[in-house]
Amino acid sequence: MLDDKLTSIKGVGAELEQKFHILGINTISDLVYNYPRRYEDYSNVQSINEISPGPVTIKGEIKQATGRYVRRGLHITEAVVSDETGSVRLVWFNQPYRANSLKHNQDYFVSGTFELSNRRLCIISPSIELESDFPANTARILPVYKLTKGLTSATIRKIMKELIPSIRALDETLPKDIVKSQKLITRAESIELIHFPKESSDIELSQGRLGFEEVFELSLASLLNKQENNLENSFRVDFKEILAKKFVENLPFALTNAQRRVVWQLYMDLNKKQPMNRMVEGDVGSGKTVVATMASLMVIAEGFQVAFMAPTEILARQHAKTISDLLGPLGYKENLGLLVGSMSKKEKEFMKAELASGKINFIIGTHALIEENVVLDKLALVIIDEQQRFGVEQRKKLMSKASKMPHFLSLTATPIPRSLALTFFGELDVSILDEKPTNRKPIITSIISPNSKLPMYQDINKQLDAGRQVFVICPLITDSTVIDANSVEKVYKELSSKEFKTRRVGYLHGKMKGDEKNSVMQDFLDHKLDVLVSTTVIEVGVDVPNATVMLIEAADRFGLAQLHQLRGRVGRGEDQGYCYLILSDSKAPSPRIRALSTSNDGFKLAQLDLELRGPGAIYGKIQHGELDLRMAKLDDIGLIKKARKCAEDLIDKNIDLSKYPELYNKVSKLRVITNLN
Ligand code: ADP
Ligand code: MG
Repeated sequence: MLDDKLTSIKGVGAELEQKFHILGINTISDLVYNYPRRYEDYSNVQSINEISPGPVTIKGEIKQATGRYVRRGLHITEAVVSDETGSVRLVWFNQPYRANSLKHNQDYFVSGTFELSNRRLCIISPSIELESDFPANTARILPVYKLTKGLTSATIRKIMKELIPSIRALDETLPKDIVKSQKLITRAESIELIHFPKESSDIELSQGRLGFEEVFELSLASLLNKQENNLENSFRVDFKEILAKKFVENLPFALTNAQRRVVWQLYMDLNKKQPMNRMVEGDVGSGKTVVATMASLMVIAEGFQVAFMAPTEILARQHAKTISDLLGPLGYKENLGLLVGSMSKKEKEFMKAELASGKINFIIGTHALIEENVVLDKLALVIIDEQQRFGVEQRKKLMSKASKMPHFLSLTATPIPRSLALTFFGELDVSILDEKPTNRKPIITSIISPNSKLPMYQDINKQLDAGRQVFVICPLITDSTVIDANSVEKVYKELSSKEFKTRRVGYLHGKMKGDEKNSVMQDFLDHKLDVLVSTTVIEVGVDVPNATVMLIEAADRFGLAQLHQLRGRVGRGEDQGYCYLILSDSKAPSPRIRALSTSNDGFKLAQLDLELRGPGAIYGKIQHGELDLRMAKLDDIGLIKKARKCAEDLIDKNIDLSKYPELYNKVSKLRVITNLN
C-alpha cells in the first residue's frame, strides 16, 4: 500500500505523477513523509462584518457569480459571498470554469487575503470549498509544501486528504512502553497532525514525536555500534606516573586544569582493553597538541605505535617539530617520524621500512599515512587532528592498519554541544578543553571600513617595526574564482609596493605547488618574511608565535567559525594579538561581524551563530546528506537527552530489536552511516 505508485491515488494521473517525480516523490510513502515546510493559519472563521485586510476565512453563500473576458487572454470571475452580517467580493483570474462550478444556496468556506484592489476591498484568488468538518484548503491551518511548476499546495492538500485512511493505518515504530512513558502521540497521529493540524499546538506535538524518533533511532544506532566496539580488544596501555611527571616537569609552562583533566581521562581510557573512542573539543589555542602528545607518550613508552594524522603538510611538519621538542628531553627523539606527500620517494621508503620494523613508533603525517604500503602492526593509538577536515573513509583506512582495534582520539576546534556530539557521534566520548592557557591575552579585534584603512596600516607598521609578523588573508570563493579586488595577487602587489614597501612580503595560495607552499610557510615561520598574504590555506592549526597581526580582507565573506579560527592564528605567544576585519563595503557591519569584535570565545560564537543562522549553520557539515534529521530541533537539548536516555534503557534491558522490524531496519541503516570503524 505505502509502496504503491502515486497514480493509485484518486485524482492523480500521469501528468501530476510526473510533477511529483520532479520533487523526488515516487510512492505513497514518499508523499506521507513529505512534511510541510510551513503553515498558514486560516482556522479562524469570521463573520464578514468582522474582517479586516489580511488573511481571512469566512463562511457564506454565493449570491452572484459571473465570468467574462476583459481582453484576450484575461478572464475574470467575480462572485459575491454573503452571510448574515454582510457581503464581500471574490475575484479569480483565468478560471473560466469557476463561475458555473459555484453552487447557490449552500454554505462555502472561503480563505484568502482580504485586500484593496482597484480601490475596492475584495478577496483575490481565494480558496473556496463547500462547508464541511474536514476541509482541505480552507478554514484550517493550511500546510505549505515544497512545490514545483504546475503543482500547488492546494493540489497536494486534496491528495493528502485522500491518504488519510492510509495514514491512520500506519504502524507504530517505537516500542509501546516508550510511547507511553514519554507521553508521545502515536506515529499515525503524528503524521496525520503534521499534515492536518487542528491547532498550532498540534504541530509542536507532532514535531516533538517525530523529532524524538529521529534522535532515538540515531542514538540507538550509535549505542549499538559502541557496544560492538567494546567487544573488541585493544592494546592495553599502562599508566606510568613517573613518566607523566617527568613530561610535565619538562614543559615550559604549567598545564591548565582542563588539560590535566582531559589527559587523565585519556590515560584511563588507554588503560582499558576496550578501544578508546574520544573526541577532545577545544577552542583554537586551548592546547590540544600537548594533550595528545601526553597520551601518545604512554603508548610509545610501552613499545606500541601511534599515528597522528593532520590535514595539511604544514601542520604535520609543525606537529612533528612541536612533539619532538616535547618528547626529545625525555629521550624519545629517535622514536619519532614524519610521513608527508612532498618527501622524496627514497625518504618515504626509508620511513615506511622504519615503521614496518617498528623502530619508529610515533609517526606524524598527512593523508600519506593511509597509503596502501604503510604497515603499522603495533598501532595502538590513532590521533586525528582537526577531525572535521577528514572524511569517515580516511579515518577508517588509517584505523584498519592496526592488527588489533586501536584506541582513537580526535581533536577538533568545532564547538559542538556535548549532548549533540553524543547524538551525532554517539560512540564517541567527549572531553572539552574549556579553559585557555592563562598567559593568553585576548586578541583585540577591530572592524575596518574599506575607505579608512590608513590608521590601521600605521598601527601594523608599528608592530612590524617591533619585529612582529603579519598575516593578510584574502577570500577565496571557490577553488577557482577569486574576487578580483581582493585576490592574493592583487593585494600582494599593492601592499608590497605601498604600505609594506620596505618589508619582506610573501604570498601563498591553494594553486601553488605543495613544496612551493611549504617553503613560503617555512620562510614565514623562520621569520625570513615579515608579511604573508594568503588565502585561508593557513586557517588550520599553524602556530607562528611571533605573528601578532591578522588582517582579513572582505571579512564579511567568511563564516563566523572560520573567522574565529583565522583569528586564533595570532596572539599565541606572549605578545598582544590584533585582528582587523575589513568589510567589503562601507555599509554597517552585520551582527555576526560585530559579535567577533566583542567575544573571543569560540563556544559562545558558535552559540550565537546558532541563534542568528539556525542549527544548519553549524551542524550542516555534520548532518551530511545521508543523515535525515528533518524534525529534530537540534538545539532542543531536552529532547535529545530524553531520546538518548530511552535508547540507553532499551539497550540495558537487552531488548531484541527484531521484534520491531521497521525500527530495526532504520537503525541498521543508521549504524552503517555513523559507524567509526
Ligand atoms: P590548539 O588547541 O589550537 O591545537 P595548540 O596545541 O597548537 O592549540 O597550542 C597553542 C599554543 O599554546 C602552543 O604554542 C602551545 O605550546 C601553547 N600552550 C599549550 N598549552 C599551554 C599551557 N598550559 N600554557 C601555556 N601555553 C600553552
Ligand atoms: Mg591544533
